[in-house]
Amino acid sequence: MIETFVQASYIVAAFLFILALAGLSKHESAKFGNACGIAGMTLALLSTIILAADIGNAVGMAILLVAMVIGAAIGVWLALRVQMTGMPELIAMLHSFVGLAAVLVGFNSWFGTVWPQPMDAEIRQLHLIHNGEVFVGVFIGAVTLTGSIIAFLKLSAKMKSSPLSLPKHNLINLAAILVTIALGVWFVMSDTALPLVLMLVLALALGAHLVAAIGGGDMPVVVSMLNSYSGWAAAAAGFMLSNDLLIVTGALVGSSGAYLSFIMCKGMNRSFINVIAGGFGSDGAVTGETKDYGQHRETTATEVADLLKDAKSVVITPGYGMAVAQAQYPVADLTKKLREKGVDVRFGIHPVAGRLPGHMNVLLAEAKVPYDIVLEMDEVNDDLSDTDVVLVIGANDTVNPAAYDDPTSPIAGMPVLKVWDAGEVIVFKRSMNTGYAGVQNPLFFRDNTAMLFGDAKDRVEDIIKAL
Ligand code: NDP
Repeated sequence: MIETFVQASYIVAAFLFILALAGLSKHESAKFGNACGIAGMTLALLSTIILAADIGNAVGMAILLVAMVIGAAIGVWLALRVQMTGMPELIAMLHSFVGLAAVLVGFNSWFGTVWPQPMDAEIRQLHLIHNGEVFVGVFIGAVTLTGSIIAFLKLSAKMKSSPLSLPKHNLINLAAILVTIALGVWFVMSDTALPLVLMLVLALALGAHLVAAIGGGDMPVVVSMLNSYSGWAAAAAGFMLSNDLLIVTGALVGSSGAYLSFIMCKGMNRSFINVIAGGFGSDGAVTGETKDYGQHRETTATEVADLLKDAKSVVITPGYGMAVAQAQYPVADLTKKLREKGVDVRFGIHPVAGRLPGHMNVLLAEAKVPYDIVLEMDEVNDDLSDTDVVLVIGANDTVNPAAYDDPTSPIAGMPVLKVWDAGEVIVFKRSMNTGYAGVQNPLFFRDNTAMLFGDAKDRVEDIIKAL
């Protein structure tokens, strides 16, 4: 009876997790998605407690409840104090817990499972499959554990974010994977702990090395990749524990993380292998060949305010600089003022603007910019030629025409916002420095572009005053 109830609640919880993912894919339904996720997780936890109570192990039950109270307290404490900008490192840290859990479940499952002796052929086969599950689960878990810890240290600036480049580092990784496969065969066939422990040490080192070799700027892709690994680690743990909900949830996290990494790589026009190989990104200096694009034109906040007063349509394309300057609040204020004057204001969001997928959407939602005027790049690109003024606020690579028309550019082929098609383009930034990719932006030197130098927040506030 209890077993049937638990299985039924697992199905409902899995369904709620699917609804959560679907809800989170749109602004309008994100809150509903979150609520479904919370409901699904509450149901899953309650079912687990009911199942544990039914087994009648009082000590186990007490440990479970104490662990849940401690975990919930830490979770609530972290959620209350984390800033939006600290989200990636928090997520990285949480992934390391999933990795650790998969390692512990793996060892527990191998040491704790008692097999009938002597084994007949069928039991022996099941035993070999179980060993395979344990090995895969511990491997993915260990890579996720140390990889996530390094990602956390890099993102929170507790470790240098530049890529660690050991000689032949890709060969080292390949060798580690080949040795792991050999250890896997040894473990499954011999059923002894030594190959499992050796693989654990190797996988911990591999996880740390894989992520250490990746530059700080690529960390968002790495975090989403680790998110995917943590899902597969959970699914592997689900197989070991014969827990269907863990398998389904792990697969959902694993596949959605993999898809998110794919979208990010596509938005950057880079391959996943290229990201893993590391070494991309810059600290503002121009890399590669520097071309002479001529002179740029400067403007002032008052001139921009005059331009905006006469405009009928304005598109704002924010980027990483808006996040750095925390300019979303004055930007929302400016938008409100212009809309009150009858100006058609919309936002054009590049899929990899900022340093996180959805970075700009989160900031604009935080500042209460109406969802219906926040459009994706593809929705706004064709309208830019009919737009009077484009305000490029702290964006650089995502509005670089070289990606479009210079096949020799390092970012050639990256889809970009075609802001240069608009009547006037105002670029908000502090200097002529480059963006993340380290390439110069010919947009700054176009006839219809003017540079408004300074911190984006200060400059937007100046424009509001002048208006
Ligand atoms: P960029 O990183 O290309 O450029 C940001 C610009 O903001 C800089 O040129 C900088 O110029 C300016 N800036 C910084 N601080 C301020 C400030 N306080 N006030 C005003 N301007 C400021 O940003 P984009 O958003 O256009 O592009 C994102 C880049 O990040 C892409 O190359 C993308 O591939 C990459 N990336 C994105 C990920 C994602 O998931 N979104 C993940 C990993 C990488 P200055 O210093 O002169 O002020």
